[in-house]
Amino acid sequence: MLHKWEGIVIKSRAYGESNKIVTLLTREAGKVTVMARGAKKPTSRLAGITQTFMHGMFVCQRTSGMGTLQQGEHLNSMRHVLTDITLTAYASYIVEIIDRLVEEGKPEPYAFDVLQQALNAIEEGYDPEAITLFVDWKMLPFTGVQPILHACAQCGAVDGEFAFSFSQGGFLCHRCFHLDPYIIRLTPTQLKLIRMFYMVPIEQLGKLELKRETKRFIKKIVTTIYEEQTGIRLKSRTFIEQLERTPELLPRKTEKKEDSE
Ligand SMILES: [Zn+2]
Repeated sequence: MLHKWEGIVIKSRAYGESNKIVTLLTREAGKVTVMARGAKKPTSRLAGITQTFMHGMFVCQRTSGMGTLQQGEHLNSMRHVLTDITLTAYASYIVEIIDRLVEEGKPEPYAFDVLQQALNAIEEGYDPEAITLFVDWKMLPFTGVQPILHACAQCGAVDGEFAFSFSQGGFLCHRCFHLDPYIIRLTPTQLKLIRMFYMVPIEQLGKLELKRETKRFIKKIVTTIYEEQTGIRLKSRTFIEQLERTPELLPRKTEKKEDSE
């Protein structure tokens, strides 16, 4: 049977001398793995469309088991993401987390939207560190964790001072602070941002300017949830941490231009 899916390549690996096995997250069928015959050869018409991060329309032949990619057509070739090492690092983290959390076999339109909007936003120049935070918070329900962020997780209050509690699974108000000795106190701004990361669709963002410390603080909370409560540690996270620790190693755009002249 022939299928035409809108999809994004979340993983692409070599298979044999000339083939690739490609994992797509599709809008219509969820996560699917297909064989792209000949795609490893640079001259193949499938070579470009089967690179990681590609967003396109994919025509696949599949009856049961692994399908075969027949043809593909770009919707977005992610030029900036592919040519900037920092953007590639963040985008790699995003496709890895999606791949880890989404199972094959059923449509996952929510995950597809998160992925597509996140890669698109990075390609269009939004802060990749903030976009990655969006993905972290938005994909939490796929780990079975559904943090309570609209009110106090214990008493339901919506007013007062708030903190984040790992043991209570969300926000606690000051009346309930005594329930958890390890609460992390939040300023009203931090509280609002965490709520936004979790609830507001990425594409409804304006240009978001966040302080570096604010992003690191919120990242620490969500990374702790992933690592402590779901046991998920992502390989591409390590590379981003290295980049962030040594920003002077990052190629500056102007320097890159000079180099090539
Ligand atoms: Zn409370």
